[in-house]
Amino acid sequence: MGELQDHVALVTGASRGIGRATAIRLAEAGARVGVNYNSSPNAAAEVVETIRSRGGQAITLPGDVSSPEAVQAMVASLVESFGKIDILVNNAGIIRDTLLLRMSEADWDAVLNTNLKSAFTCTKAVVRYMMKQRWGRIVNVSSVSGILGNPGQANYSSAKAGLIAFTKTVAREFASRGITANAVAPGFIATDITSGLSRDTKDSLIKQIPLERFGKAEEVAELIAFLASDRAAYITGQVIPIDGGLAM
Ligand code: NAP
Repeated sequence: MGELQDHVALVTGASRGIGRATAIRLAEAGARVGVNYNSSPNAAAEVVETIRSRGGQAITLPGDVSSPEAVQAMVASLVESFGKIDILVNNAGIIRDTLLLRMSEADWDAVLNTNLKSAFTCTKAVVRYMMKQRWGRIVNVSSVSGILGNPGQANYSSAKAGLIAFTKTVAREFASRGITANAVAPGFIATDITSGLSRDTKDSLIKQIPLERFGKAEEVAELIAFLASDRAAYITGQVIPIDGGLAM
């Protein structure tokens, strides 16, 4: 029996990268998983297929997390399929990097809506199920950019900092109901988001990371799976960097 047996998880943005690794890791621990995606249906189907081929249970859940209507439909569909929801991982995220003077209002809104407002709508949609059962785990995927700020990321770092304050507020509001809320703050992780960086940029970033490498999506998934488990029952409202020592 896996430690998340009998639990149902929703992972937003689970078609690729950290979300994909998290969906697979939670399923490995026994959870039945909703694999949310927006624009990559084939990748999401592959994640579900991978989980099923290893004996787990998962379904794809299409939906743009920046749309409250899509979030409602996605949560309803998950609960219809698996009967409940115990774990929410707010992972979906995008970047629209450019210096502040060049950043458009559209760049700002897209990043804030996808990376921050989505956590508000997804959390609101699932928390009533968690309250009834007096057990829930919410893990928000923030970033070291939300702690340190980062040139070219006024929108992204604001969203990720907002996610930290949101995490602490949710932790305080729902602690008495057996629901914990924590954030992870990855540094540079090797996924599609960072794959576009030039070799020179990567090399200069690696020089700033005490552990001298980018992290792996699976390493972040491991931390998220821990926070989603009973082993983390006494941890709430925390922001845990996973960054090779970058932001210490
Ligand atoms: P990624 O490989 O680009 O994957 C992003 C995921 O988010 C994809 O599955 C994508 O799904 C989904 N997504 C994007 N917009 C969406 C929307 N509107 N609705 C639903 N899903 C949406 O990125 P990643 O590196 O795994 O990043 C995952 C999270 O970690 C993000 O929140 C990111 O900010 C954070 N993070 C990453 C790093 C890093 O270095 N990689 C560092 C710190 C924090 P579709 O392809 O189906 O649209």
